[in-house]
Amino acid sequence: MVFFSKDFHKLVTIKQRKGARRLTLRVCQLTGHITLTIPLRASISYAKDFLLENADWVNAQLKQVIPSNYVSIGTKIPIGWVEREIIIQKLSQRRHNLEPTTLQLDCNVVEVGSATKNFLVDHATKVLTPIIEENAEHIKRKIKSIRFKDTKSRWGSCSSKGSLMVNWRLIMAPPSVYRYVAIHEVSHLKYMNHGADFWRLVESLHPHYREDQFWLKDNGRKLKTFRFEISNAAKT
Ligand SMILES: [Zn+2]
Repeated sequence: MVFFSKDFHKLVTIKQRKGARRLTLRVCQLTGHITLTIPLRASISYAKDFLLENADWVNAQLKQVIPSNYVSIGTKIPIGWVEREIIIQKLSQRRHNLEPTTLQLDCNVVEVGSATKNFLVDHATKVLTPIIEENAEHIKRKIKSIRFKDTKSRWGSCSSKGSLMVNWRLIMAPPSVYRYVAIHEVSHLKYMNHGADFWRLVESLHPHYREDQFWLKDNGRKLKTFRFEISNAAKT
């Protein structure tokens, strides 16, 4: 069941699970949505009491939620950490045009979110693929595939078979940061661990990687606040 909690001003989902042994409480870091998983035998009213008993913890979690930034006309979006205002512009040939202070999209108002997302995925592919390929060639390793996805937890990954994944949202970060993540994953083609040899290789390919790690730690979450679907508020 889903209900609106007046205590937290948030939606709460209560899920009854067969295998659940105890009550677990989660707060989504992006939306503030509260989820309570309870065993089949536990009652809904018991679950609601449990939620209130943990009010301090829930409120502390809600404070961490960064407000979502729904992308629409006029939104300022960073690309390579340079802010671009999103505008609609009739373009003769291309669907979009990246300018020093604007991102011009040739689309309808309702398509601005999806057009921006498509642009970012394309741009990430164009910018990051050569960085990955050149560095893999440099260390004489073969890449099986490169995919650009929007993963929740990791910025990138590399499988033992040589399949690389990089989060396309990184194209919003400073160039040094997305270059670092690309090189981090490429370096896993040689070392499938985070041992001393691995970090030596990363450093030889991208000397100031520590600054980029700090940047990601401090600012990475901001890149995840941009939302490209139409917001609920705008739908009604
Ligand atoms: Zn790694």
